[in-house]
Amino acid sequence: MLMMLHHPTIVRDRRAAPSARQRNVSLRSQRPARSMSTLATSHDTLGWQDLDRRHYLHPFTDSRALHARGARIITRAEGVYLWDSEGTRILDGMAGLWCVNVGYGRRELVDAAAAQMLELPFYNSFFKTATPPTLALAALLAEVTPPQFKHVFFTSSGSEANDTVVRLVRHYWQVQGQPQRKTIISRWLAYHGSTVAGASLGGMRYMHEQGDLPIPGIEHIDPPYWFEQGTDNDQEAFGLLAARRLEERILAIGADKVAAFIGEPIQGAGGVIVPPASYWPEIERICRKYGILLVSDEVICGFGRLGRWFGCEHFGYTPDLMVIAKGLSSGYLPIGGVMVSDSVATTLIERGGEFNHGYTYSGHPTCCAVAERNVRILRDEHIVERVHDDTGPYLQARLRELADHPLVGEVRGVGFMAALELVRDKASRTRYAPVGEIGTLCRDFCFDNGLIMRAVGDTMIIAPALVMSRAEIDELIERARLCLDLTLAAARDHA
Ligand code: PMP
Repeated sequence: MLMMLHHPTIVRDRRAAPSARQRNVSLRSQRPARSMSTLATSHDTLGWQDLDRRHYLHPFTDSRALHARGARIITRAEGVYLWDSEGTRILDGMAGLWCVNVGYGRRELVDAAAAQMLELPFYNSFFKTATPPTLALAALLAEVTPPQFKHVFFTSSGSEANDTVVRLVRHYWQVQGQPQRKTIISRWLAYHGSTVAGASLGGMRYMHEQGDLPIPGIEHIDPPYWFEQGTDNDQEAFGLLAARRLEERILAIGADKVAAFIGEPIQGAGGVIVPPASYWPEIERICRKYGILLVSDEVICGFGRLGRWFGCEHFGYTPDLMVIAKGLSSGYLPIGGVMVSDSVATTLIERGGEFNHGYTYSGHPTCCAVAERNVRILRDEHIVERVHDDTGPYLQARLRELADHPLVGEVRGVGFMAALELVRDKASRTRYAPVGEIGTLCRDFCFDNGLIMRAVGDTMIIAPALVMSRAEIDELIERARLCLDLTLAAARDHA
């Protein structure tokens, strides 16, 4: 087993976290004084790790394996950097979890939350009521999203938003007098969340196995994963073939039973699967031909990651519903939503009656106030344009330099979203066996050398905050190359 053999070489960067004055903000001074009895002052790293083992169940984690190693405790962040409880500085190549689009430490977002909490921390939208920040955010979203969207349904997460999609799409077809249109077609390796409906829409077999999923009425087709499935044929021809799997499935199910197709513009958690340019226009053509709703899950791609506000704008298609979360608030507070196109919204508003669906925190005023400020930062500071015109192409070009590395079989990506495929043999695209081991090894080398890159199997993922500068991109590339070298050396030693 490769990864058992080598302890990653550690080149720790113990640069101290900048002081409040260096950071030109005074968040620390605004924090309430901690009492001596609070945990924060009474535990060091080992103490935190002990609490972690005794009390905390992590998402998507093998607890026993984690307990053997101990959790890394992340204590603070600024810009594109994190610091752990040992004082180690880490370049965050994943923007938290694909979400901190404006970077860490934005004072305006803290102020927006504090002001709203003092004014009205919470009120619901159930009782024929609404709050000003909810409406301000809804109106701003109508401005920044594609023109067919003027209405939004708010949730607290991407998973809840995808649950809402299932409820809303089926309700819509009932209202349209076609209640038999229930089936939603998705793709293998899709990620649409971890709730029962979200995981069902998702195409992760290891998630399905743990809960008798998918729920009825959800089907999956193969993704447009050229590196895995494309032969040496032209990528655009492969894109068309991949899209036509949707038509084949629609005809197999019966077009009158299909409600919607859902897809991420670029599949994120599945391994940054970038479809050929021919793919999405063909998917849209097929959806229109059979009258099927087209749902774009923009939880990762939305709010600038691809250098356009939304991934559908990069690929040139016009969805009926759009799922949003993550970059909507840059992760500062939990919020998600479903953008609903005019034609669907009109049907639901005029003829839908009561929609028996909603969450306590739908339209949460504090989350909305923070999200609204965040979207204005993205817009007013031209952050999306910078990714499009300058830093996105720079990141992609610098990453492509890594294609000369013996371990790297492919570099792909758009804007601030990218993947490196790790392979044993570049020419034949042969992976190491078992799949996942070399990726985990590389990820661990990264973590121990001050860089967060995520591994999906043997695919290394990069999705930094959209404010990452050219100098920080250079640092990312330098660290990535070092970690690829360490990974290769470990693999060769093993061989
Ligand atoms: N959709 C996509 C495309 C995602 O990447 C994610 C999360 N990574 C989700 C939905 C689920 O979002 P959440 O974790 O906020 O529930």
